[in-house]
Amino acid sequence: MADTTPVPHSDAGKGLSQERAAATPTPEAGPVGEHFPASIAGFGVTFETIFRKIYTEEYPEEKRPTAERYHGRHQLNRHPDGLEKCVGCELCAWACPADAILVEGADNDDTPLEAGGTGRFSPGERYGRVYQINYLRCIFCGLCIEACPTRALTMTNFYELADNNRAALIFTKDQLLAPLQEGMLAPPHPMVEGLEERDYYQGKANAATTAQREWVAEREAAEHAADLAADAAAEGGNPK
Ligand code: SF4
Repeated sequence: MADTTPVPHSDAGKGLSQERAAATPTPEAGPVGEHFPASIAGFGVTFETIFRKIYTEEYPEEKRPTAERYHGRHQLNRHPDGLEKCVGCELCAWACPADAILVEGADNDDTPLEAGGTGRFSPGERYGRVYQINYLRCIFCGLCIEACPTRALTMTNFYELADNNRAALIFTKDQLLAPLQEGMLAPPHPMVEGLEERDYYQGKANAATTAQREWVAEREAAEHAADLAADAAAEGGNPK
């Protein structure tokens, strides 16, 4: 016996989807000419680029000069007699948004040599004993430069700061200190005779003086004598 149960009309849903399909705009729906100029314009850009002069920078064989105020590697500057401008105030470290700078200040020492004095590194009360910049963090924004009250910290135009060793990109004070120029004397040594800290910032120190050079020579002689005495004591205590 044939099944007489009415079957639901399958075209009911089809009618709705057909209506939706008709209402949806398709790319083919528009006239062909409407898209044609855009394609031509695209090829125009391609052809224009094909005939443009090719410009290849031959880096690193040829290095182009940077802009004058380029933000490159930092430098810790010196006064004309060689003393360091950094006074270890840590303002640069506080200003750094990337927390890339580490500074540890220490007191300068004006104790005479014969009393075991170690000398001073800056004209201020303190100096930057530890100074590090982590170039894995630095974003070269220059806020540290703005914060520095003594113009100790500036940025150079040097930009080749890539390495395959993370530790090598943490620059220490000896790497950041400006090299000694003519007339400068490597600290520690006293300030120029008769000058105070403020005189250095008023440009009254021009070069290392004879008294400063004698002080350094005396300190080196004392250190050398101490080394010899230590060696002699070691030899005396360990006979062969
Ligand atoms: S570089 Fe300038 S801001 Fe930074 S610790 Fe030295 S003096 Fe202070």
